[in-house]
Amino acid sequence: MARRKKIYEGKAKTLFEGPEPGTIVQYFKDDATAFNAEKRDVIEGKGVLNNMLSEYFMNGLTQIGVPNHFIRRLNMREQLVKACEIVPLEVIVRNFAAGSMAKRLGIEEGTALPRPIVEYCFKDDALGDPLVTEEHIAAFGWASQQDMDDILSLALRVNDFLSGVMFGVGIKLVDFKIEIGRVYEGDYQRLIVADEISPDSCRLWDIETGQKLDKDVFRRDLGSLTDAYSEVARRLGVMPKGATPMKPTLIN
Ligand code: UDP
Repeated sequence: MARRKKIYEGKAKTLFEGPEPGTIVQYFKDDATAFNAEKRDVIEGKGVLNNMLSEYFMNGLTQIGVPNHFIRRLNMREQLVKACEIVPLEVIVRNFAAGSMAKRLGIEEGTALPRPIVEYCFKDDALGDPLVTEEHIAAFGWASQQDMDDILSLALRVNDFLSGVMFGVGIKLVDFKIEIGRVYEGDYQRLIVADEISPDSCRLWDIETGQKLDKDVFRRDLGSLTDAYSEVARRLGVMPKGATPMKPTLIN
């Protein structure tokens, strides 16, 4: 294969220059990190599963008219996406209390929230992605008020879509994180869903048993991460050939 120019290497993905201007190849690695990369491991097969799952969710968003960066999957580990300028925010949507919010506000994990709560964190690993308010975002110029209106609308549309898709396969969407990209079309700019949507960036609980099928399996040492992600892929019908389904012994 011709040598490609690496643009960026993140914790779970590497980005290469794409074949045409305005495109990027997103390579999904098997590396798993948590707690701001203090815990790390290589989980064989995770990258393949996240590549397939992110393709599935992004294609679904395209089908319902939610703009996103996905162009096409290239192979088991790579997908072609639109190049965009990433807004330096992690956009988190929560339907049930969990993780950092449950801890911060002293709410029991799993408590249903009265309405979806959207939070913003400033994307900065060295600072541990701190929670910020719209005041910070406006004052530091990370996004305009119009951008924030568009980001909120995108986040809530993704939430409704993902919640419904997951509900259809017996999974509760507890919370998730998305990233937003800015693309320029002539004189105009548009905001689109970028990065990835996968069990690495969502909390997914089995509706019947409460079993965790997301990265908390790794964060909290609850069993095999690939078994959990394979189960999500199997239920959605996007199980890659040759992957083994979850063993019935995995319980949380
Ligand atoms: N999340 C993520 N990347 C991050 C931080 C959070 O994908 O850097 C996701 C996480 O998987 C969960 C949601 O965002 O689905 C909310 O995470 P939370 O703030 O509860 O943080 P955590 O408990 O993961 O530290």
